[in-house]
Amino acid sequence: MPERVVIVGSGPAGWTAAIYASRASLEPLVFEGAVTEENRLQGTMPLGQLALTTEVENYPGFPAGDLSQFLKTALPEEHHWMVDMHQKEGCSGPELMHLMRQQATNFGTRIVTDDIVDIDFDCRPFKIRSLGGQEVEAHSIIIATGARANYLGLDSEEQFKNRGVSACAVCDGALPRFRDKPLVVVGGGDSAVEEADYLSKFASTVYLVHRRDELRASKIMAERAIENPKIEILWNSQVTEVLGTDDDGVTGVRLKSTVDGSEREQAASGAFMAIGHTPNTTFLEGKLEMTEKKYVKWTVPFRTNTSVEGVFAAGDVSDDYYRQAITAAGTGCMSALDAERWLALKGL
Ligand code: NAP
Repeated sequence: MPERVVIVGSGPAGWTAAIYASRASLEPLVFEGAVTEENRLQGTMPLGQLALTTEVENYPGFPAGDLSQFLKTALPEEHHWMVDMHQKEGCSGPELMHLMRQQATNFGTRIVTDDIVDIDFDCRPFKIRSLGGQEVEAHSIIIATGARANYLGLDSEEQFKNRGVSACAVCDGALPRFRDKPLVVVGGGDSAVEEADYLSKFASTVYLVHRRDELRASKIMAERAIENPKIEILWNSQVTEVLGTDDDGVTGVRLKSTVDGSEREQAASGAFMAIGHTPNTTFLEGKLEMTEKKYVKWTVPFRTNTSVEGVFAAGDVSDDYYRQAITAAGTGCMSALDAERWLALKGL
């Protein structure tokens, strides 16, 4: 029997779609991703980007407070290790993802811990193949594989992730370790300027490190950075190493001039990478309509429909603009409602 809806991906979009689809009695099957070294290295493990962050202070419904008793009752015993790690400040990214996953399973969602490597959209029902070789047929599919932040690819950057190296100022910027300290933002696009501007509310100085002598950001955004007295732009500079210690995390960065190759160190308590994102759509290339940057295109305004009827997309895989947990959850909900209505229309 073909599945009625298969959900690919396990971030806030995937789990919200699963919660809605399971409550609509569609018995969704979620492929949450595989636990592989390749996925670990590129930041595409199950539970998505939020599982790589620390505190989440902007997801509505989780104000600061002690969640540990709630976690104990909400999560099965095998996940009680989280209770001991709980920071007593709102909710952490991994906690939020485990809670969403649990909520989806409470309503009957089934989960396979594997990646999807191929989908045949030319046949009905669609044919789906996983990395482990499992083959599944589905009348409808929700793509929620998200995107991954680009990093510079330095070993030292990897070493200090979550201890000063971040790719999300909105997620991490307000943490105590960054307050009234010098911070570095890498990049020259709108994201980098926006991150620098946001961080300037907390930091003593934000050093915006850009590899050229002109920002890529739009004029209005570039002016905002140039005019902000707390932002100093370090032109023609490339970060070649993140500096730090086991005790303190990030303490600075080593910079190399892209003009004359000279090197210097810049003290900083944090290094924020804002050099773009890559959507996780390789397995969809040539099969679904995508934007120039390979994000899945929504083909109907304010709906999650894609170029293939019966296939819907939710979360960061189809959004390079908002990229927030709450917006991903919102479009995840929309995709489940869209799939449910489409299945009903087709009598499936
Ligand atoms: P982006 O426009 O692609 O900019 C990426 C920046 O990172 C560029 O300045 C690039 O340098 C730099 N970069 C890339 N790889 C690098 C590397 N290995 N080392 C050092 N620097 C590197 O990406 P984005 O800023 O994330 O923006 C994405 C899209 O979202 C854009 O269309 C943007 O307009 C939009 N956006 C809009 C807003 C807003 O309107 N409020 C906010 C955020 C994003 P080069 O310039 O030298 O290539």
